[in-house]
Amino acid sequence: MARSKTSAVPSSARQARGRRLSLVVPMHNEEPVLETLFARLDDTVGRLPLDLEIVCVDDGSRDATLELLRARAARDRRVRVLSLSRNFGKEAALTAGLEAATGDMVVPLDADLQDPPELIGEFVALWEQGYDVVYGVRSDRTSDTVLKRTTANAFYRVFNALSDYPIPASTGDFRLMDRCVIEALRRLPERNRFMKGLFAWVGFRQVGVPYVRPARMAGTTAWGYRKLFRFAIDGVTAFTTLPLRVWTLVGIGAALVAILTGLGLIVRVLIVGRDVPGYASLMVVLLFGFALQMIALGVMGEYIGRMYQEVKGRPTYLVKDRIGFDA
Ligand code: UDP
Ligand code: MG
Repeated sequence: MARSKTSAVPSSARQARGRRLSLVVPMHNEEPVLETLFARLDDTVGRLPLDLEIVCVDDGSRDATLELLRARAARDRRVRVLSLSRNFGKEAALTAGLEAATGDMVVPLDADLQDPPELIGEFVALWEQGYDVVYGVRSDRTSDTVLKRTTANAFYRVFNALSDYPIPASTGDFRLMDRCVIEALRRLPERNRFMKGLFAWVGFRQVGVPYVRPARMAGTTAWGYRKLFRFAIDGVTAFTTLPLRVWTLVGIGAALVAILTGLGLIVRVLIVGRDVPGYASLMVVLLFGFALQMIALGVMGEYIGRMYQEVKGRPTYLVKDRIGFDA
């Protein structure tokens, strides 16, 4: 956000002509959009004077996505297909694609054309000026529902308040990254891949480009609110331990209140004498304390569960098939 905008324009100018650009497209049941997607790519990035590579990651689609990709790869040598053994989720699919991409510049792209490929020319121009990361900023989210926008805004606010590595508001995965950034991302061993957070964490010279995000072209979003909520918790727990540590403060605060109340009671008994204790206030304090403890336990559970996942060390994704990579 502010941090990236203030970073001075780097002096090192680069030449994009003839360099390789990799598009990384995670796909889960994207059969209805594939045709249009490739047509749009031909009309946009296809015209840039670059060596184009299109890495399509089939994330366990149950429709004909993989068959269509296979057919496409057979007649288009720019197309490479990575087929995962099942549905691993978008972050894993994206990780797989980024690791397989060989370009000097890499651009993750949603298959549903919500990330307008027209913008990539502009990204490349900024890369030539020396920026390592050029990210798209959604200047207008009216294509999202009010509920989605409100919850998204709330998430960014909470995340950025808690995390030391703020995510620029309204950015997604749509961005151009230099090879050095891709190499940096590959060095991060964590399995819980909250990509937006990792993108912010790696740093480098970043700059934002505003764009209007269109509605999904066809098909349906795979992200219900339940999944988005899990995703939000994944993001927060991956980048801050504050929810875990805050309980020390809450505990100290509660203890202080208890001590003061106790002292107050003693003084009161000394002055006005013994009175009948209130059952209601006792219950309220008890229940409140109990609820706090439960929340604290739950928060620990969230972290411990994720530690367990990381410790098991299972791979982020499994590849079933690689097509067109050795061409
Ligand atoms: N996607 C994926 N695996 C999944 C869910 C989604 O690879 O489990 C891909 C999907 O095919 C699309 C991108 O991730 O290319 C974004 O998904 P979608 O458009 O459904 O999400 P939204 O735009 O609603 O956030
Ligand atoms: Mg979409």
